[in-house]
Amino acid sequence: MYAVLSDVHSNLEALQSVLKDIKRRGVREVLFLGDAVGYGPDPDRCLTLLQEECEILIAGNHDWGVCGLTGIDSFNENARAAIMWTKTVMRPENINALGTAPVRVDLGDKGITLVHSTPWEPEKWHYLLYLAEAESNFQHFDTAVCLIGHSHSPVIIERRLSGGLSTNKKGVDMGTGNRYIINVGSVGQPRDGDPRACYTLVDEERVEIVKVPYRVEITQKKMTRAGLPLFLVERLAVGM
Ligand code: ZN
Repeated sequence: MYAVLSDVHSNLEALQSVLKDIKRRGVREVLFLGDAVGYGPDPDRCLTLLQEECEILIAGNHDWGVCGLTGIDSFNENARAAIMWTKTVMRPENINALGTAPVRVDLGDKGITLVHSTPWEPEKWHYLLYLAEAESNFQHFDTAVCLIGHSHSPVIIERRLSGGLSTNKKGVDMGTGNRYIINVGSVGQPRDGDPRACYTLVDEERVEIVKVPYRVEITQKKMTRAGLPLFLVERLAVGM
């Protein structure tokens, strides 16, 4: 079984709570789908913890924004402010490490593809928000399962052998021959209306979206002290 994390966004309290939940369940293999940094107050500690705990680390658009591989102009005002702040506080060797992670990994033997955004042009950071986009993205990976992040909204998209598509936001028993695009949600800045940290458990038979409470107010206090934008501080409490 894999625990799959994405979009930690420098939120150490959320990451620690999720890792504790994973250990409590006895799950050993942890995969990370990108955006270790951006938005939150603990970029160095989050990256280090992810490097220690995860078998594979994928790069996200905020990681590329901080290390300079993606232009800062492609981000909105609040995201940009957080990226600029992150550049000033983060250790140079950690900033460099952000630029060395791959944007896509295909684990053919395990039947899993990993990307931050979409299997189609992963380095262009497209969003997958509609079923029509899912349909076309199914043509851009060969494995049964593609795990994604980026939108911060967890969802399991199932493509049945017959070609029909359906979605589920909690958990699914996987059918033989069916294919899946699974958005694993965001550990550090959920946007599905639930402020709890989110990650996903996957094995050959089942996928399950997991929510874990954490001390949001501690992260918020650190963000305020760091002078990060108020909008980013407040959204953590509502999960939007
Ligand atoms: Zn993100």
